[in-house]
Amino acid sequence: MKIAVFPGSFDPITRGHESIVNRASSLFDIIYVAIGVNHNKKYLFDLETRKKFIEATFSSNSKVKVIDYKKLTVELCQDLNANYILRGLRNGGDYDYEYSISQANRQMDERIETIFLATEPKFSAINSSIVRDIYRNGGDIKAFIPDAIKL
Ligand code: ADP
Repeated sequence: MKIAVFPGSFDPITRGHESIVNRASSLFDIIYVAIGVNHNKKYLFDLETRKKFIEATFSSNSKVKVIDYKKLTVELCQDLNANYILRGLRNGGDYDYEYSISQANRQMDERIETIFLATEPKFSAINSSIVRDIYRNGGDIKAFIPDAIKL
């Protein structure tokens, strides 16, 4: 079984995240979309809401499971028997950041491979923090979030 963990904040999930998971569905048997909980971080959408959004997005994809976690991503992978961490890359900035994280994770457990998917160009400018700013200021975020989400 090929089991992957797609870790992130998903505050909120965007069409970019949705596309990465859909494309990864042909590579893996199970994909855990794993919401990292960091008590020092202030989120716009609470955990239950973020979870509901992700569940609605993948309601017809039986490979996807939504969970939250409060530990190291490699420890979560060990608990779930997952050998792959899935991440999306939009640009050079993402690459530099993701590269360092993947090296650190490899140092901690070399059995776990990080798999990067380059985003589809049409989603490369979407990021959760801009979506949050638009939402906070009363703008319409429908174009940036999955169709299945009803606000
Ligand atoms: P984090 O706080 O861990 O960066 P995010 O929820 O922002 O969590 O992102 C989770 C993953 O999704 C990261 O690998 C990020 O690079 C990727 N990602 C975010 N937005 C997009 C997008 N528009 N297209 C492809 N990948 C994306």
